[in-house]
Amino acid sequence: MAISSESASAGFSTKAIHSHQPPDPATGAVIQPIYQSSTFAQASIEQAGTFDYTRCGNPNMNALEGCLADLEGGVRGFAFTSGMGAFSTLCLGLFKPGDHLLSCADVYGGSYGFLERVIKPFGVETTFLDFTDLAAVKAAIKPNTKALLIETPTNPTLNLVDLEAMSALAKAHKLLMIVDNTFATPYQQQPFKWGADIVWHSTTKYLGGHSDVVGGAIILKDRTYEETLFVHQKLIGATPDPFACWLTLRGLKTLSVRMPLHQQNAMALATFLKSHPAVEQVVFPGLPEHPHHALAKKQMNGFGGMITLYLKGGLEEAKRFTSALKLFTVAVSLGGVESLVCYPYKMTHGSMPEDYKNAARITPNLVRLSIGLEDVADLQDDLKQALDSLVPALA
Ligand SMILES: *Cc1c(COP(=O)(O)O)cnc(C)c1O
Repeated sequence: MAISSESASAGFSTKAIHSHQPPDPATGAVIQPIYQSSTFAQASIEQAGTFDYTRCGNPNMNALEGCLADLEGGVRGFAFTSGMGAFSTLCLGLFKPGDHLLSCADVYGGSYGFLERVIKPFGVETTFLDFTDLAAVKAAIKPNTKALLIETPTNPTLNLVDLEAMSALAKAHKLLMIVDNTFATPYQQQPFKWGADIVWHSTTKYLGGHSDVVGGAIILKDRTYEETLFVHQKLIGATPDPFACWLTLRGLKTLSVRMPLHQQNAMALATFLKSHPAVEQVVFPGLPEHPHHALAKKQMNGFGGMITLYLKGGLEEAKRFTSALKLFTVAVSLGGVESLVCYPYKMTHGSMPEDYKNAARITPNLVRLSIGLEDVADLQDDLKQALDSLVPALA
């Protein structure tokens, strides 16, 4: 079970492939078998083994938790049925009535929904604001503020939050710094290096990487909240099944191969999109004109594989563009090998209030692209023909 002693110094790809995944001791199987069992035999009524019941732990789940902790540079990982399972367990474990939280405004729609609709009625209040404005974040800190909830790059507007500056603020005011690292992945961003206390993920996206499994994770930098979160993980019960863990581990093994290619394709397409007459603005942190390009170069090892596009026009143009695309599938989610297109205004962020969406620039002409690993020339041809179809009406 235990990680080999060399692992701490091993490189990212080596960890992704080997960490907590030795050949099966019983059979020599190079890949850990799927332990599809809900319960485990005990030696006696007084002696439980390492595992007793799969909601509380399973060999596949523990391998995934250990591997993710190593990839983020943390001490402990916790796996969940979904990113929302991870986030809700995190919030229920760490916050209590009367606490106040600060969150970036352009946060994942589900995170916003959980904070506003699920824990607010229990007395945990959240203020949402623009985390690129450090002074505004500082001014919003109250005596009962407990944590900074950060997402960077943000979804879907791809702004970057300065992790080092946020950490200084968090330390000065004794706030927990919690980072949703889903968009960047530990391959492209390691928030613990910049002072974060807790990282969480939707492993559904790049970590799984193949759009075939839903999952989530929490990783801790130190052991302060280990026991609390272990208890909440077991008792809330949003723990993943063995096959989901196995699929996620299988995806993780190629993360360091996939991410550079997602990024390379995204870089080429962002550059192409800029020049198209039907496009108002292209947002990609890898473009030199992106307002946080320098910060991306500092705190990230790459720029991700997501592109946000503001079309000339609005809902009508977005409808025509997305239905003209042939290779890009209209779907929520992201980070898989296949390219997807999403319309946050009505899809992922559809339930947010109108004025809130406008303030966060989640407007009717915004389209979000998850750039896959298809041949980039094919992706470019597809984007071009779909955008060309908008041009006559612009004249
Ligand atoms: C998808 C997503 C989540 C939620 O994860 P699920 O696995 O869908 O529950 C959280 N944060 C970000 C940034 C996401 O993209």
